[in-house]
Amino acid sequence: MEGPRSVGRLALFDLDDTLVDRGRGFARWAREFALSRGWGEREERWLLASDQESTGGRREFFGRVREEFGLAESADELWAGYRSRMPDLVVCPPETLNGLTALRRAGWRVGVVTNGAHDNQSAKIERTGIGAVVDGFCTSGELGIRKPDARVFRVAAERCGADLARGGWMVGDHPTDDIAGGRAAGLHTVWITHGRPRPAGTPAELEAADATEAIALLGRRS
Ligand SMILES: [Mg+2]
Repeated sequence: MEGPRSVGRLALFDLDDTLVDRGRGFARWAREFALSRGWGEREERWLLASDQESTGGRREFFGRVREEFGLAESADELWAGYRSRMPDLVVCPPETLNGLTALRRAGWRVGVVTNGAHDNQSAKIERTGIGAVVDGFCTSGELGIRKPDARVFRVAAERCGADLARGGWMVGDHPTDDIAGGRAAGLHTVWITHGRPRPAGTPAELEAADATEAIALLGRRS
């Protein structure tokens, strides 16, 4: 394996469930949404379970919400309401923000690369304070291409003033989008476990319980 000096000092981070607690934010949204319609726990549980099962993107998810509950609004209207609210419901822990700041002070270029609608993802990045402590970010929504496509990582690196060809690190919780994608883009990877065993074939060099621990691991390679 290459030594840390040859890897370069670029660190890219996934957003949802890596830098911010997207799962907890969604649970807050589901509680609010159910309450605002006079619904109870059954409906809230349906929203949480459907979110877990959802693989087709948010428009499809809100199409299912609309159908299940016979809502008058269109799926697009429901999705727009969600995107305008979610940025206020996710949090980036202060220790993670401090870690990103320290990593940059140690000479690293730090960026965010995230799949999702641009308005939702960029507002999350700004309102959580992440935007103020990173060199750059990109979203799949603005580019029209998604992780694990290597081009997304290349754009993120460029926005950080770094060159993907010089290597670096990708930190994320998704085995395919973040870890396999990061590896295919020529990056070393840190898989965020959240206590999960590593799926077979996930090619991560390092594992960390959360982003704060991952930042500490990278900082030791400065
Ligand atoms: Mg994620």
